[in-house]
Amino acid sequence: MLSISRNLRQTRIRLPPSARAASNLTRFNWEDPLDLDGLLTEEELAIRDTAREFCQESLLPKVIEMQRTEEFNPKIIPEMGALGLLGATIQGYGCAGVSTVAYGLIAREIERIDSGYRSTASVQSSLVMHPISEYGSEEQKTKYLPRLAKGEIIGCFGLTEPNHGSDPAAMETTAEEVDGGFVLNGAKTWITNAPVAYGNPGSPVLCDS
Ligand SMILES: Cc1cc2nc3c(=O)[nH]c(=O)nc-3n(C[C@H](O)[C@H](O)[C@H](O)COP(=O)(O)OP(=O)(O)OC[C@H]3O[C@@H](n4cnc5c(N)ncnc54)[C@H](O)[C@@H]3O)c2cc1C
Repeated sequence: MLSISRNLRQTRIRLPPSARAASNLTRFNWEDPLDLDGLLTEEELAIRDTAREFCQESLLPKVIEMQRTEEFNPKIIPEMGALGLLGATIQGYGCAGVSTVAYGLIAREIERIDSGYRSTASVQSSLVMHPISEYGSEEQKTKYLPRLAKGEIIGCFGLTEPNHGSDPAAMETTAEEVDGGFVLNGAKTWITNAPVAYGNPGSPVLCDS
């Protein structure tokens, strides 16, 4: 083993002329080897930098502490809302109305720190706010989107069930319309945000409207 590594150290690699010429042209950037930044607009870069600063300065120290105490801190969600990171692609209703690329950059910055808070933010944005924005009535949009955008309330999306996983065709849960609303009967599992989601008894309202 030792003699192999000694031999390797002594071996000089000669690059072909074409590779030597290429290496004079481009300096390898290990932080962005595919030059993704070169494909982004000024606005997308600014949004990425805002999300990165929040994640490094505010989210990271809290996540380290929460990993130690095994807690989830829902107060982080209004901090994301204050920066426009929730439901960011939606136009109006207090949302930022930015590109889907910008949304991807936001999600990537949160994911770099903690996959759980990325899940919280993307369920809020893509599985809760997006369906309301696309398919909800004007009354539902006005009632819920601004509060969800601020992170004042947290939403969840309950598809997966213990007996059928995430197969909607086999879903057992029923929603029966009654006077003044619906009665839901069934069991769910793996639902991101469920313990703190709006409508659960004791769910927090996280900032003033
Ligand atoms: C962290 C986390 C957060 C989640 N958040 C939510 C949430 O907010 N809301 C929600 O509704 N759900 C949520 N889920 C559930 C998640 O969406 C499902 O667990 C996931 O979609 C997998 O579905 P399943 O459990 O039905 O597994 P299945 O789809 O049954 O898969 C089980 C296994 O079988 C394999 N398999 C499946 N189909 C085939 C096939 N045709 N051929 C070969 N192999 C196959 C899969 O690769 C896998 O290994 C969450 C799960 C996790 C882990």
